[in-house]
Amino acid sequence: MADCLFCRIARKDIPAKIVYEDQQVVAFEDINPQAPAHALVVPKVHFATFNDVGAEDEALLGHMMVVAARVAKDKGLHGEGYRLVGNCQESAGQSVFHIHLHLLCGRRFAWPPG
Ligand code: 5GP
Ligand code: ZN
Repeated sequence: MADCLFCRIARKDIPAKIVYEDQQVVAFEDINPQAPAHALVVPKVHFATFNDVGAEDEALLGHMMVVAARVAKDKGLHGEGYRLVGNCQESAGQSVFHIHLHLLCGRRFAWPPG
């Protein structure tokens, strides 16, 4: 989508600190980190929310999780544990309407989340 923030980052129209990229996804550091390491894993194709994906997208969604684990490993933080978060719609905290996984690592996390 032309004016979507994460589509623009994926296209390199807007700069971001990219930590991983392949044909399907890009991962970059969150501009407002909520943990010592906080990256976003974003598919290059646009889906506004997780409600907009279907069975045909299972491989892409699984790939996003595998990439998140790889980024945690690249940061040397996978052994400590980390949290993957996907917010769906505003009531769950979604503010950018292009699906993404948050990878949060480097501290302890409380449960349940707020
Ligand atoms: P959401 O609230 O939709 O689950 O997560 C969106 C995330 O995108 C937030 O953590 C926010 O800090 C991050 N974010 C918003 N705008 C930008 C930006 O321009 N660049 C980067 N790198 N992250 C952004
Ligand atoms: Zn988009």
